[in-house]
Amino acid sequence: SKTLGRNRYSYFTPELQASAQNRLRLITDLRGAIAGEQFRVYFQPVIELATGRIVKAEALLRWQHPQRGMVMPDEFIPLIEETGMIHEIGEWVFREAVHWAQRWRTGRHSEFQISVNKSPVQFQKEANGHIGWLAHLEELGLPGNTIAIEITEGLLLDADPAIVGALLGCRDVGIQVALDDFGTGYSSLAYLNRFDIDYLKIDKSFIGNLTDNPGDMALSEAIIVMAHKLGLKVIAEGVETAAQRDLLASVGCDYGQGYLFSRPLPPEAFEALLLDDKCF
Ligand code: C2E
Ligand code: CA
Ligand code: CA
Ligand code: CA
Repeated sequence: SKTLGRNRYSYFTPELQASAQNRLRLITDLRGAIAGEQFRVYFQPVIELATGRIVKAEALLRWQHPQRGMVMPDEFIPLIEETGMIHEIGEWVFREAVHWAQRWRTGRHSEFQISVNKSPVQFQKEANGHIGWLAHLEELGLPGNTIAIEITEGLLLDADPAIVGALLGCRDVGIQVALDDFGTGYSSLAYLNRFDIDYLKIDKSFIGNLTDNPGDMALSEAIIVMAHKLGLKVIAEGVETAAQRDLLASVGCDYGQGYLFSRPLPPEAFEALLLDDKCF
């Protein structure tokens, strides 16, 4: 490592050994998790700010570990990416999302959409994964826009032709595309034009400071104006207070998602919320 001086001997502390062991242990456990049906998909509502109604949901992966309890994705997604398990698990998340979307697309919610996260690693192997996805949707008689894919700017940074092809393929069959965590990476306005993206998700780090940091408010407002000019809809992530929601609504933000409305929920609890047709 390049770090020298005071920290020179700190690499072999018991803490680090413990975390390396923890990592190995997690990888071992993950191998059994698929067979043991320990993964869960939770759903977090996305609210149309103009009406207060739930119109979409984001599918978020959880791991119900028999001893550790609920393990959050930031702890294990990197591991399932390294080990290649992400491909099988990602397909499963997609199928779960489609299953619940089909059930929930009735009555007032006939346009209901579920978004799934797809990491760059998944695109590397599944350049044409959307073909299988489309076949599955068609089998069930569902249109492409039942599903949206959430990607991050990192994916677009390289602009690998296979990945661009895959993204365009998705758009061709009606599956929508959302650009996640917008504002945190190497955000380039050029991407938004080049890749024909449907939604832009403003990262929660900006939303958190909206009411006390005029800079973040100005930035969010500018993002919304620009996105609308380019024909994109905007989703604000991490909306936790009514003040944040009101500010966002006042500058024309289309959708909000965050603890103010609801935490991610197991499907049954999400369904109860949806049937309630609660207005936020
Ligand atoms: P993300 O895609 O940015 O998802 C939003 C994260 O923000 C979720 O964390 C959600 O629970 C959290 N969140 C929602 N509202 C609020 C709020 O008001 N305040 C705060 N502080 N946080 C809020 P979660 O579920 O822990 O997921 C973390 C990340 O793991 C996701 O970030 C996504 O990058 C990844 N991930 C989750 N599920 C999947 C999946 O099925 N496939 C892939 N490839 N990645 C996934
Ligand atoms: Ca996301
Ligand atoms: Ca995000
Ligand atoms: Ca993220």
